[in-house]
Amino acid sequence: MADLGYLDLSAALATLELREVPVIAHASLHAFGRVDGGAETFVQALLEAVGALIMPTHTYNTMITPSVGPMHNGIVYGSAQDLNRMAEFYSPSMPADRLMGVVPEALRQRPGVKRSMHPILSFAGMKADKPLGTQSMEEPLAPIRMLAESGGWVLLLGVDHTANTAIHFAEKLAGRRQFVRWALTEGGIVECPGFPGDSSGFKVIERDLQAYTRKLQVGNALVQAIPLKELIAAVIERIKKDPYALLCSNPGCARCNELKK
Ligand SMILES: [Zn+2]
Repeated sequence: MADLGYLDLSAALATLELREVPVIAHASLHAFGRVDGGAETFVQALLEAVGALIMPTHTYNTMITPSVGPMHNGIVYGSAQDLNRMAEFYSPSMPADRLMGVVPEALRQRPGVKRSMHPILSFAGMKADKPLGTQSMEEPLAPIRMLAESGGWVLLLGVDHTANTAIHFAEKLAGRRQFVRWALTEGGIVECPGFPGDSSGFKVIERDLQAYTRKLQVGNALVQAIPLKELIAAVIERIKKDPYALLCSNPGCARCNELKK
C-alpha cells in the first residue's frame, strides 16, 4: 500500500464530522502503515479534524510498588523491586510512556499544548485547558467527565477498545472498585487513589456500540469514533447486567482477580 500523506489523513478524518467536537484520541501510528512525516503529520491532521483534542500521556515509569500497603488493592506488594530501582521522578517534561505510542508524545511536544497534573495519569491537550484543569489526585479521569458533559467523542485510531481510557471512567461510575498506586515525585512518594483496573478485557464492548460507532478504514488501520455519553451508558448497562463484565480471563491478573472476589 502507498504511503499515507497529510492530505490522505485530513480527507479521511474530515468524514468523521468531528470538527466542532472535543475528542479524546488513542492512536497507533504503526497500524496505519507508512505515514509521510510520521507522528507530527499525524497530529497535525488530527488537530484539524476535531474541535479540541486530548490524549493520554501517562508515565508508568514513575510508579513505585511498596512492600506493604492497603488490602484488596489488586497488587502484589514487594513484587517490583527491580522496577522500583528503575523508577524515575515525575516531571511535567517527562515524555509519555512508550506504551502510549508516539502520537501523544508528538502532541505533547507541540507549541500551545498543555499537560494535566497527574504524576502517572496525565493527559496532553490542545484547546482543552478546561477539561485538563479538572484532573486531581482524587479524580484522575475527571477530564473525561468534562468531555462527556460537553458532547465529546472518543476516537480510536488503529487501536481497539483495550486502549479506551473512557471505559475506565465508566467503570468507576458503575461503582467498580478503584485501586491505589504510588508515584515517585520531587516532593516524595505520592499516593494516587482512583487508579483504574485492567483494560485487556474491554474489546467486548465493541458490539454494544455498533449503532453509535462511525467507522472508517484509513490505510491499514481501522478508525472508530464513538460518542462518550453513549459509550459510558453502554459500559454501565453491561456491568449492571454482569458484575464481571469487561474483566479479562488471565488467571494471573491481580486487578481483575481482585474485582472477581
Ligand atoms: Zn485483567
